Amino acid sequence: MKLTILGCYAATPRTITNPTSQVLEIKNQMFLIDCGEGTQVQLRKHKIKFSRINRIFISHLHGDHFYGLIGLISTFTLLNRENDLHVYGPKGIKEIILLQLKLSNSYTGYNLYFHELESKESVIVYEDNNVIVHTIPLKHRVYTNGYLFKEKNTQRKLNIVAIEDYNIDKCYYQKIKFGGDITLDNGKIISNLDLTFNPECEKSYAFCSDTVYNEDIIPLIKNVDALYHESTFLETESHLAKKTMHSTAREAATIALKANVKKLIMGHYSTRYGNIELFKEEAQTIFNNVILANDGKTIEL
Ligand SMILES: [Zn+2]
Ligand SMILES: [Zn+2]
Repeated sequence: MKLTILGCYAATPRTITNPTSQVLEIKNQMFLIDCGEGTQVQLRKHKIKFSRINRIFISHLHGDHFYGLIGLISTFTLLNRENDLHVYGPKGIKEIILLQLKLSNSYTGYNLYFHELESKESVIVYEDNNVIVHTIPLKHRVYTNGYLFKEKNTQRKLNIVAIEDYNIDKCYYQKIKFGGDITLDNGKIISNLDLTFNPECEKSYAFCSDTVYNEDIIPLIKNVDALYHESTFLETESHLAKKTMHSTAREAATIALKANVKKLIMGHYSTRYGNIELFKEEAQTIFNNVILANDGKTIEL
């Protein structure tokens, strides 16, 4: 799993910072998470091929999380995209995007599917052989979901020594990787457990933005490899965090600690702060393994 931060600041785009957007790469699939204004410029800047993005997950309908979507959808058409595009997001997102396409008489040349969300419980929104994606219901001024991406490792690791001892032909390796037993020429059945090791552990990534401090999410994100949790404010502005339904650095760190995550990635900083190192300092009084998101930063999970 590889995460590229395209933008990680709150509110308005500026010449030096971008609103929320991230690309998560899992086994050669690219998932776009949120699409603030300027996301397509950031994709170009970081040399991420547009054609590799087939699924976009939007947390909520505040502008700093989706105002780049109509631009990207429109650019896909100009680039003669043919692949289907799937957009996951709050109910209403389809209406907003379709109205813009309709009034500009610029329908897409590819299939555009909307998966609208309105559940207040965590639901599975996407699953294939390699990954499963759950929503993480958040508490914010409008209906908001974070997303939990869990890698699925269906392939077992080959025990080459054992396989060679039994003189098993290479053409059976695929079958063994997927858990199959092998019947030898003499009719003896060799259990898969004698031919393989357990798969390497699956990675997981939780994206949580925007939200107030909310312990309800802890069971959903327990033990994840990396948690991105918004930290719009420092504790000195905790009154603003409460008023605008955001979190402070200290609150993000408290959630990371209580959920026993391996690392905390912080972002969605208010542009009022000149020095984001202050977020790390505040968070590390609670939880040590903190990474500050920064536009363009790549993080291996
Ligand atoms: Zn926001
Ligand atoms: Zn918001």
